[in-house]
Amino acid sequence: MIVKQIWTANAYRNFNYLIACSETGDALAIDPLDHEKCLRAAKEEGWTITQILNTHEHHDHTGGNDAMVKHTGATILAHRNAGSRIPDVARGLGAGDVVKVGRTVELEVLDTPGHTMCHVCLLSHADQPALFCGDTLFNAGAGNCHNGGHPVELYKTFSGQLARLPASTRVYPGHDYIENNLRFTLDREPDNGNAGAMLEQLAGQDPSSAYVSTLEVERKVNTFFRLTSPTVIAKLREAFPDLPSSPIPARCS
Ligand SMILES: [Zn+2]
Repeated sequence: MIVKQIWTANAYRNFNYLIACSETGDALAIDPLDHEKCLRAAKEEGWTITQILNTHEHHDHTGGNDAMVKHTGATILAHRNAGSRIPDVARGLGAGDVVKVGRTVELEVLDTPGHTMCHVCLLSHADQPALFCGDTLFNAGAGNCHNGGHPVELYKTFSGQLARLPASTRVYPGHDYIENNLRFTLDREPDNGNAGAMLEQLAGQDPSSAYVSTLEVERKVNTFFRLTSPTVIAKLREAFPDLPSSPIPARCS
C-alpha cells in the first residue's frame, strides 16, 4: 500500500489522501477536495484514480467529488446512511466492509459516529496498520460535534473502537490542526511533558511534509484518550464545578 498525503493549503487546512496499489497503480482518493492537486499527484505517480471515499458529508470533504468524477469516472463510496447528503454514492459502507484498491490493498471500514452520524474511518491491516480517520480523530484532538454530531457517540467511538486499535497504527487525519490541538492539550493538562516537547518540535511545521503520528503517540498527547488523567479531571472540575464526584453517578433507589 502506498499512501500519499496531500496538503491543500486551504483555509480549513484539509489533508486529502491517495492510497495506491503498488502492482496495478489503481488509487483510492480520500476526501479529494482539492481535485486538481489530487489529479496532478496521481498523474505524476502514474496512478489511476478508480474510487473516491468520503469519510463524511461535510462540504470540505465532498466538495471535490463532481470534478473528480468528471475527470476520472471514479465511483463514490461513503457511509451507507450518507446517501441523502452526498450525491451519487455508488456504494454505501457499513462496519466490517472491506474496500479493495487494485490487487494488494484491503481497507476495513469502521463506523465511527460522533463528528457526524455518517462518518467512516478506513483501517489498513498492513505490517504497520494505518487509520484514515477524517474528522473523527485529529493529531492531539477530535472533530467537534456542532454540525450533525453527538458527543456521547464520539465518546463511544473513542473508548469502544479507537482506544482498542494497535499502538503502532499510523494516524492520517482530515486536517492539520496539530499545533492548535497541542495547545489545547496543554491548557487541559499543563503538566503533559510529551505535549510540551512535541509542540516545541512541531510548531510552524510545513504541512506539505507533515509529521505522521501513531496511536501510541496520540495516547500520550491527545486529551480525548486521556480522560483518566488526574490533571485533566481536576481542570474539568475547575471549569465545571457541578460535575458529580464520581464519573458514574451513584444509583438512587
Ligand atoms: Zn467535518
